[in-house]
Amino acid sequence: MYESEVRQLTLTLIDRGMSLRAVHKSTGISRATLRDWLNHPEKTGQRASCPRCATLPSLPEPAGDYAYLLGLYLGDGCISVGGHPAKGVWALRIACADAWPGLRSECIAAISAIRPRNKISTQQRVGCTEVIAYSRHWPCLFPQHGPGKKHKRTIELAPWQQDIVGERPGDFAGGLFHSDGCRFMSRVRRPLASGDRWYEYPRYMFTNESRDILGLCGQALDRLGVSWRYSRRNTISVARGEAVARLDEFVGPKY
Ligand SMILES: [Zn+2]
Repeated sequence: MYESEVRQLTLTLIDRGMSLRAVHKSTGISRATLRDWLNHPEKTGQRASCPRCATLPSLPEPAGDYAYLLGLYLGDGCISVGGHPAKGVWALRIACADAWPGLRSECIAAISAIRPRNKISTQQRVGCTEVIAYSRHWPCLFPQHGPGKKHKRTIELAPWQQDIVGERPGDFAGGLFHSDGCRFMSRVRRPLASGDRWYEYPRYMFTNESRDILGLCGQALDRLGVSWRYSRRNTISVARGEAVARLDEFVGPKY
């Protein structure tokens, strides 16, 4: 398959009076293909464009959906070769817990907002549904893609990603907590003269093996004014009442 720019350039040459034979000789493109392009000019430029590898790169849009999807990807997503390697297509896979069906639809909605023309499928696994979307451009959109586990390598946001996450920290934190976090009720015992009383408080936890990803989560929470601390080496905890209420605005209970 030829890139749309080559197509357009070639059609311009023919437009200017160059013969098919001459174009074929100078470009190596077969005459059958050239004839097909001439007969179907509407196909020119049909390949889905990518904001990052375009001649003039721009930011993926909508920014909120991108920030959310980046959070999902960094939390618990992966990018791998989709199909035959020669095709250059990549599969983005995000595991969505079945206990949280709302997450699956939010994930699908964010992917279709960012890559409206790409195919999305789902695959049932034990306890979760994997949402899979194919595109040539996942590595452009998520340059954190690389060989090996995310916690075994440095995860840094590109400057353009930092801009988006800085603008949309709530969406980014939403993606991180939806994929690798949880909101749960913590029971606390208060001993009283009349006997023990139990109280329940909602809390958030985000668990990840990558120090870098934990750091990005902490930065987003700082931007939102949500107080947090490390409750374990690999776990960020949000436990204070007003911090939980603030985070509820962006993450919310599982549904
Ligand atoms: Zn691209």
